[in-house]
Amino acid sequence: MLPYLTTHFGNPSSVYSYGRETRLAIENARKTVAGLLGALPKEIFFTSCGTEATNMAIHGSMADLGCRRIITSPTEHHATLHTIDHHSKQYKLPVDQVRILANGQVDLAHLDELLQKDDRKCFVSLMHANNEIGNMMDIMTVGQKCFDHNAIFHCDTVQTIGHYVFDLKKMPVHFITGSAHKFHGPKGIGFLYMESSVKIGPYLLGGSQERNMRAGTENVYGIVGLAKALQLATETYEHDKAYIEGLKTLMKTLLCDAFGDSVIFHGDPSNSLYTVLSVGFLKSDRSDMLLFNLDIRNICASGGSACSSGANQGSHVLAEIDKDNRTDTIRFSFSKYNTEEEIRTTVSVLKEVLG
Ligand code: PLP
Repeated sequence: MLPYLTTHFGNPSSVYSYGRETRLAIENARKTVAGLLGALPKEIFFTSCGTEATNMAIHGSMADLGCRRIITSPTEHHATLHTIDHHSKQYKLPVDQVRILANGQVDLAHLDELLQKDDRKCFVSLMHANNEIGNMMDIMTVGQKCFDHNAIFHCDTVQTIGHYVFDLKKMPVHFITGSAHKFHGPKGIGFLYMESSVKIGPYLLGGSQERNMRAGTENVYGIVGLAKALQLATETYEHDKAYIEGLKTLMKTLLCDAFGDSVIFHGDPSNSLYTVLSVGFLKSDRSDMLLFNLDIRNICASGGSACSSGANQGSHVLAEIDKDNRTDTIRFSFSKYNTEEEIRTTVSVLKEVLG
């Protein structure tokens, strides 16, 4: 990224050589991202973040693809839920929520029912992996169901891009979304993948950047950084996955040894992100200040979704699966930069705090 922050200042929309240099950097980044995901360069659109990419997919599906009903789930990220809420009101469209099973997974039989319910063109938005409880959905099965019913399928893959292998030419999806900071790239840059047969209009209006699909001068260093980060993540994927899985397993084992039945792991352990562990402690007078107590010891973890922490609204995801609100829950996220020692320290701090 550094050359584009220190010397290569050309505006990619300018025709002079200085601008062409940065235009080339963007197009090379697009090729890199497309190549790593098994997509075509023309299917990748850079955005400011995952949220913007999701807005683009939802808006385009209502405004340009003629979707007249919506299926989603109550455990999606707010980028999806709030955007669907807005568009369904604007276009007066019905929204069906797929039932969530006790383990937090989408009820596929109910999805079938909803897809068959009526003939109006349907927009489906279901996430690949849940950012709070880590559950992973079978994207191939769900995508195929959507394609079989001629529905438009958007899958929020913000948690899985850079952490799993994607071969988009073989995957039944119309839209997926990514965000660089989830795979050690810079913040404030994301992308939308839009399958080449899908044609929507621009979401941001103005200039002709991103092939008329997203007006506004590009975040050149962010785009270059996103592509590089994805390349690095892909190169070391097998090794990093095994290492991070080891950390997660160690944490689970140590927590079970320390807390026995008073610790609950939320979500579906058989289908879970290796980077996320959602840990519920049965409520007690010592469990409610947990995050604060970890923070003052420099252990950074989240309550519900980090994206709305500070708002202190509680988690809409946990509300679905921990209906009696039995636990105080912490979401631990692991990366290749964490160590076993950090895991051991965290568990001993938890023991100290919870008694
Ligand atoms: N979707 C999921 C599953 C996320 O975890 C996040 C952010 O944490 C987003 C969407 C939003 O991404 P961004 O913060 O890049 O807008």
